[in-house]
Amino acid sequence: MRVLLDETQLTTGVHGLADEIDRYYGNQRHLTVIAVMTGSLVLFADLIRRLSMPQRVGVVQASSYRGGTTSGQLHVDAKMMIDVSGRDVLLVDDIFDTGKTLDRLRSMMIEFGANSVKTAVLLHKQRDHAVELRPDFVAFEIPDEFVVGYGLDYLDMYRNLPYLAVLEPAEIEATAS
Ligand code: 5GP
Repeated sequence: MRVLLDETQLTTGVHGLADEIDRYYGNQRHLTVIAVMTGSLVLFADLIRRLSMPQRVGVVQASSYRGGTTSGQLHVDAKMMIDVSGRDVLLVDDIFDTGKTLDRLRSMMIEFGANSVKTAVLLHKQRDHAVELRPDFVAFEIPDEFVVGYGLDYLDMYRNLPYLAVLEPAEIEATAS
């Protein structure tokens, strides 16, 4: 696997992301931080412990990859959502690819009555996006390649890797077989 970001780079990036968010919100304003599962699992755990404001923490499930490396129909499961009405919400996702996931979730948070909604991602893919929305806080810009590790999966594998790597076509084939 070709390592794109090693552990040290990821740590530095996540700390920088937290600092940026801290600067924007300050350390007094209550924030409702929502993890977009499952890809943001590792990022989320690292990020919320670096943020200095009081936080409410929740999760929402979104999936668009149907057992492959290209995105399909987006499914959102908000059964485990906490109340966001009147709250300042920060959505945290692993990667901004087409942008459809965060665009949809942002609209949902507004429908649920959020006072404000911002988005933070570890990775922003350099490609044409399908939506107008751009993430408010980004740790890394990456090329348009399929990456795994640090929470990101292929067929539910590789999420536990402490680094971020590009999954080459041969590895994609080997994992799928
Ligand atoms: P979007 O809605 O922005 O197209 O995609 C968001 C979701 O697609 C991400 O939360 C992530 O789960 C998945 N995704 C997009 N690009 C990649 C990638 O390169 N690797 C992996 N493992 N998942 C990706």
